[in-house]
Amino acid sequence: MSQPPRQDRIFAAAVVGAGAAGLAAALALARDGIPTALIGRHAPVADGRTVALLDGSVRFLEALGAWDAIAPHAGPLATLQIIDDTGSLFRLPPVRFHAGEIGLAAFGWNVESRRLTEALRAQARVTDNLTLFESDALEASAGEAFSEVRLADGATVAARLVIGADGARSPLRQAGGIRVRDWSYPQGAITTILAHGRPHGDVSTEFHTRGGPFTLVPLPGDRSSLVWVAGEGTARRLAGLDDAGLAEAVTRQAQGMLGPMRVDGPRGLVPMRGLSVASATAHRLALIGEAAHVFPPIGAQGLNLGLRDAAALRDAVLAATREGRDPGSRAALDGFARGRRRDAALRSTAVDALNRSLLADLAPVDALRGFGLLAMSAIGPLRRAVMREGVLPRLGAPEQMRAAG
Ligand SMILES: Cc1cc2nc3c(=O)[nH]c(=O)nc-3n(C[C@H](O)[C@H](O)[C@H](O)COP(=O)(O)OP(=O)(O)OC[C@H]3O[C@@H](n4cnc5c(N)ncnc54)[C@H](O)[C@@H]3O)c2cc1C
Repeated sequence: MSQPPRQDRIFAAAVVGAGAAGLAAALALARDGIPTALIGRHAPVADGRTVALLDGSVRFLEALGAWDAIAPHAGPLATLQIIDDTGSLFRLPPVRFHAGEIGLAAFGWNVESRRLTEALRAQARVTDNLTLFESDALEASAGEAFSEVRLADGATVAARLVIGADGARSPLRQAGGIRVRDWSYPQGAITTILAHGRPHGDVSTEFHTRGGPFTLVPLPGDRSSLVWVAGEGTARRLAGLDDAGLAEAVTRQAQGMLGPMRVDGPRGLVPMRGLSVASATAHRLALIGEAAHVFPPIGAQGLNLGLRDAAALRDAVLAATREGRDPGSRAALDGFARGRRRDAALRSTAVDALNRSLLADLAPVDALRGFGLLAMSAIGPLRRAVMREGVLPRLGAPEQMRAAG
């Protein structure tokens, strides 16, 4: 390190990566008085991707002052429906879960990803204690008392804690020497927004097919988002169709449930992969969002987990600051690392098991999946426990995600 920065120029936290997870973490810290830097350009990807924000995430976005700008563009998920379309011998009739059974108006709200990041970005621009650096980070070096992040525009940012929210490829994770396990699935996901002839009735439907889940998630009006996970060859073929051809294929795959479809937004093709980290923390570094975990888009878990990372990190940094401890120290981050490992492992294992069970095409595996779903749908307390856990973990939910009372 060259000239040591003046004490008053050292931020308590520097977040690298201005995707949804990074923006949320930066806002959460700054709104609670923590001097925070947010490093990264506003670079939303136009691939028709939406996120179904579960109940706890909505509460967090409310606490960040961003929800009012998001709500008009978000569709409620009042009912989740699973349809077994595998052709298996152990096929069950459609299973439905209603948010009302666990006292909620909706399990969550579905919104286009770009709208979410735009709303968070707008809020970040007007938040005290938050300094925006609209440039990429080139490298970070962790020193004894603080870390330094060198930016593409020549600036250097010093902070007690660097937060890596720089996505699945995370240069910061690599620089921090954090070990990863990564893998890929022989699948791709087609994403887009669809307009349809019949109303969705706030029902999100997941068809379980042999290629993976085919999911339609409600948006406001007669529109839904599509996540069609299919074998690599099929996904590439679907991506090669024109809009009319894709709409026809989707209408057929949805068994005409929502009437004729029309593509009404940008389209994307996302390869299916997974990644987990040995630890979400290293010296003066904490990873959140896809920098810390990647798994297939099943059950709307990815960003909800990323927002829990952000909210849990805010709790850890706040607790350290109140006790006069260094927020980048191991002691300050240990609880965060333990809690996030548990939560990420649980979600990633469940998503992986369901995805692989569809691909396996083996009778015993089908029987197990069918039995699990049957037990979940028929046994009331289990059914409600699974619904609650899916929306927000019972143990260790971050403060700003908990329901009042
Ligand atoms: C098809 C699909 C559907 C999904 N649906 C859902 C859903 O319904 N619900 C849900 O919860 N999740 C869902 N997910 C998961 C969700 O999209 C991701 O978890 C989320 O977008 C990851 O956000 P992030 O902020 O962690 O990473 P990213 O969005 O990747 O953001 C990382 C940011 O870091 C920036 N960056 C990278 N390197 C640097 C650098 N050196 N300097 C500065 N900035 C840098 C990038 O430009 C980017 O802006 C879905 C995923 C897919 C693929």
